[in-house]
Amino acid sequence: MKKLSFFSFLIPTLLSLIVEETSYSQMRFHVDAEYIKDVISDIASDEFQGRETGTAGCVRAEEYFAAELQKLGLKPAGDSGSYFFNYSIPKEEFDMTAGLTIDERSFFQGYNEDFSVVYKSEPGDVQGNIVFAGYGIYNPDKNRNDFDTLDLKDKIVLMKRGAPRNDIQSWMPYCIDSVKAAYCYKHDALGVLFYEPLIRTNQRILKPSFGNHLAMVQVIPGFPVFSVDERVVRYIFTQNGQSYYRINNLIESQAGSFATKSECHMSASGKKNQSINTRDVLGMIRGTDRTLKDEYIVIGGHIDHLGVDEHGKLWNGADDNASGPAVALGIARAMITNKYRPKRSIIFAAWTGEEMGLLGSKAWCDRPTVDASKIVVYFNLDMVAVGNGRLNMPGTAYGPELADFIKENLDTALLSKIVWSDGGISGSDHSNFLNLGIPAFAGMTAGSHPDYHQPGDDPEKISKPVLQFTGDFIATCVSAIADSRSDFNRLARQEENQMKLLSFSFFQPLSLSSCDEKLNEANFRQGLVNFSKAQPSYDPNINFIALLADLDSVLQKNKNKYVFSTSAYDAMMTREGLLAAFNPADVGMDDLKLKVLASQGYRIAVVDSKNAICSDTAKMKHFLKVCHQNGLGVILNNLPVPCLEAITWESADPVIIMNSEFLSDQIFSNIKARGHLVIYTLKDSDIMSQDNKNLTNLIQLAGDDHILISPSDMTDGNLRYLKLFIRQFSKSAKDKSLQYKLMNDNFHDFAVKSMQPNL
Ligand SMILES: [Zn+2]
Repeated sequence: MKKLSFFSFLIPTLLSLIVEETSYSQMRFHVDAEYIKDVISDIASDEFQGRETGTAGCVRAEEYFAAELQKLGLKPAGDSGSYFFNYSIPKEEFDMTAGLTIDERSFFQGYNEDFSVVYKSEPGDVQGNIVFAGYGIYNPDKNRNDFDTLDLKDKIVLMKRGAPRNDIQSWMPYCIDSVKAAYCYKHDALGVLFYEPLIRTNQRILKPSFGNHLAMVQVIPGFPVFSVDERVVRYIFTQNGQSYYRINNLIESQAGSFATKSECHMSASGKKNQSINTRDVLGMIRGTDRTLKDEYIVIGGHIDHLGVDEHGKLWNGADDNASGPAVALGIARAMITNKYRPKRSIIFAAWTGEEMGLLGSKAWCDRPTVDASKIVVYFNLDMVAVGNGRLNMPGTAYGPELADFIKENLDTALLSKIVWSDGGISGSDHSNFLNLGIPAFAGMTAGSHPDYHQPGDDPEKISKPVLQFTGDFIATCVSAIADSRSDFNRLARQEENQMKLLSFSFFQPLSLSSCDEKLNEANFRQGLVNFSKAQPSYDPNINFIALLADLDSVLQKNKNKYVFSTSAYDAMMTREGLLAAFNPADVGMDDLKLKVLASQGYRIAVVDSKNAICSDTAKMKHFLKVCHQNGLGVILNNLPVPCLEAITWESADPVIIMNSEFLSDQIFSNIKARGHLVIYTLKDSDIMSQDNKNLTNLIQLAGDDHILISPSDMTDGNLRYLKLFIRQFSKSAKDKSLQYKLMNDNFHDFAVKSMQPNL
């Protein structure tokens, strides 16, 4: 090793002082886009087999990243002095042995063979006649019901993936695999066979993964879901005298469903409770300032992708996300070759497990290898290789001082291409840093990413100028922050950020009259607005018209300010917006009126003791059925225990129980069996230790999947108390993500199950 002279220490320090004084109008170094492109070409090549977490291809990518870090001379920042951070993922039914027999003919399981078990399908062994249900779409708004002429009971349902004319967007969420499969399950089918056409030009394939919510199928025990090759479908059609070509053409414009005489036997069994051992990869450029070196800036992105699909097709994921770790390496390399010596330490990370649910960054954030409270900021890079030349930088709400600092200190030529926004929890690794209260920016290039989660996401399509700009911009931000003497880690910063995230959702309905002023609350993201309270009349017809008119005028008036989620898909995906609620007693529980209100955008029916359903079981059953048919969620507001016992037992779809001081054992057992939710409300006159005890008890009785917490009313005092309580509660909680479950996630699960129309 070459001996360093005194000057080689001094000069960069002097230089950085000068640069800091004169702002960053001069960039200190440029990344080498050619190098970044080479890295992408390497790890997104076929040899890496799509880098699915836990596979040999992903291990190879981890080793590649570590080898580059080592070549550059970065300090290992994983566990036990290595570049690797080891963690494991519980593995469910990944290795399934399965059989498929149709009319005595047996088919072969495997890639490029006749069929495979869909990711996360449950094991099962079922036998029944096949019915063909076209695209398997039921959407009353568009007047399409592919199941209309079919009896699904004890049948195996064959469906095509995707949506007519490949118009995925306008058929959401009805074209999602899990929605189709859940529909069949609810209508007593025994199993599902999905197929895709062989010719896939311009065909968007819904790869079963975390991202398209097939995860829901996972909760259906004994209900197998297979993916079958075109030749299997042709065989079934031929057996039943149908033309494969003609029917596939027909279903582009209308239902082409038919029952077959074909007998089908599906069986799938698998080993449970194995786990995948995998690793994140981390390296560090150690800071040089005596005190600032113990503060960190993290740059990272996920290196895993979707692997090989059931047809043997490789998903190389060049843009998503060979590009992120490649740009991180490009920045590290530019810093090293320019002998840059930052004051703060800089960590470069490649996460795995992202496509399975942000698992690698979560594992590291759960037990970070540096003091997490000393992390100044995280820059996430996910999909930064294509686009229109601009860079989206969500995250200003959680790092306003950092965004201001960047805006003040960087060259306008760089800043002019940046699209800043508030940011928040969303589908990439920055979410786990935000959960810790660490400011995090989620860099993603603006413009379209046409090959997102497509097999066509290949290295040929990446743009060198885009990589150059992203690398230069992030490198300049990082070096400016790394060398600044500003105190970015204010003591309360992380707690404040956690609080900002928690004010995401409130489930206690706002009344229409107060909603305008309440919605001006900073960070208000989601809630219920109860329109019934505005209804003046006892005449159900007048109330019905008033409900329609009120929603319409609120929509008109607030078009640009906030949105009402008009579907379960909105509620689940956007995690923002409002849900319109009404009291069905106001409109006389009339079927047609409920249907019209749902079709106009009402999403929740709030049932209280004004409703006659408690005394009449037949009426109650009917009402629940109508709500579920129309995708209306049901909130039970302060109903007597015997009535709650009956409803929670009868309702196949989950409902929400509100104001529940005394719930019987029967109700708790129904809650668990049917997936209902209980709202635990907090008000500022409460005693915190008592709330703590109550909620802990409730979690024991109902399970943490079945609880929502909410302020009893949207007053400032209640909100303040809620925040204090959550802070206190989560300090003692083992699982730090519990608070998000109770504030958010459980509700979104409810939305998926209860707020989409069913027959
Ligand atoms: Zn990604």
